Amino acid sequence: MTSPLRVLIHGGGIGGLTLATALARRGHQVEVAELRDELEALGVGIIQPSNALHVMRETGVLDACLAAGFGWEVLTICDPAGTVLAKIPQPRMGDAPANNGIPRPALAKVLSAAATGAGASVAFGTTITELADDGEGVDVTLSDGRTGRYDLVVGFDGIGSPLRKRLYGDAYRPEYTGFANWRVTLPRLPEVQGVVMSTGNLTAKALLTPITDDLMYLGSVFAEEDGFRPDPERAHEQLAERLAGFGGPIAEALALLTDPAAVVHSRISQVTVEEPWHVGRVVLAGDAAHASTPHLAQGAAMAVEDALVLAQELDAADGVPAALTAWEARRRPRAMWVQALSRAVLKQETGTPTTPEEDELLKVGIPGAAHVLVQPY
Ligand SMILES: Cc1cc2nc3c(=O)[nH]c(=O)nc-3n(C[C@H](O)[C@H](O)[C@H](O)COP(=O)(O)OP(=O)(O)OC[C@H]3O[C@@H](n4cnc5c(N)ncnc54)[C@H](O)[C@@H]3O)c2cc1C
Repeated sequence: MTSPLRVLIHGGGIGGLTLATALARRGHQVEVAELRDELEALGVGIIQPSNALHVMRETGVLDACLAAGFGWEVLTICDPAGTVLAKIPQPRMGDAPANNGIPRPALAKVLSAAATGAGASVAFGTTITELADDGEGVDVTLSDGRTGRYDLVVGFDGIGSPLRKRLYGDAYRPEYTGFANWRVTLPRLPEVQGVVMSTGNLTAKALLTPITDDLMYLGSVFAEEDGFRPDPERAHEQLAERLAGFGGPIAEALALLTDPAAVVHSRISQVTVEEPWHVGRVVLAGDAAHASTPHLAQGAAMAVEDALVLAQELDAADGVPAALTAWEARRRPRAMWVQALSRAVLKQETGTPTTPEEDELLKVGIPGAAHVLVQPY
């Protein structure tokens, strides 16, 4: 399509802001409605693997991401005592580093500046209150009282997606996996030049990820009751107790941990919309359509790929509905593969029985997955 489209993006997170940039750079008229009152993100880091960095390049923000983060090439595997078992070079897409660790607030700033710089408007503290699709366009009322008619409405509104509920009712609710992730930002240890993964027993795996020259984050996953929440007074001690069997860099990192408020605890859930991801001119993308467990560090990478491919299919197709169909045909198999393998890795690492299909998938493993994901899609 060559004529500019009017697009409303519901959700200004990682995927929504990337789509806003990709579309605005193509001359489309883009508005983002973001529920939060201001640009904010969890105060921990995120890994941008090579396929995410490819999208950052295509949307003009690669250099800004690399400047705000810590590029790295080699995954180091240690035993629980900290003895190095393997150093695994990670594949690249192009000449960017294989991975970039970056603080989430810094990434949010980069993506937001790119979206507004490209001409998109971002309204904070705003959500959709009414929506009616008549086949030719979508009439929307926003919570700030504005009304508009759009050619396309995109739900990049996260795992709890209100737009998903509007389209499908309660058919697709996030499913708690029984596991939760503990993360904390700490001063970077000099030896943490890339992800250092300490593993070797079935109750825990711990990762150190560099996110700037000065900072790294410690992350680990544990089985937990649905209602469990860390004690706000002693969350740091609870994390240290869970990782008590580890020596080497994990023990060194734990020695730096003194502030319970620094510990970020996230329940791990997943959701898959089995029906088509679009209904008429309203489409779900990123976590709203296909949230995975974080075991391949690919959830945000899939969201930004969704964004880039949607922009490409809108370029190529003759009409919005045709573009959405073509987009989903490219995206669903890849996102479902990531989701299934992420879930299988979670089960394997936690000693949960796997199915024969999962055993087959696990032959690829985490390092193998990185090689699959740098292939063209
Ligand atoms: C512990 C953990 C570690 C992870 N680590 C990685 C990693 O290293 N690498 C990686 O690639 N992925 C990682 N992920 C996954 C990644 O965080 C998500 O997949 C990614 O953020 C999804 O992007 P999104 O844009 O779809 O949703 P989000 O980034 O969640 O954005 C959704 C946005 O929608 C907004 N919103 C919600 N409701 C409304 C509403 N009613 N109206 C308007 N706006 C609304 C929200 O405020 C938010 O800004 C991790 C996830 C977890 C849980």
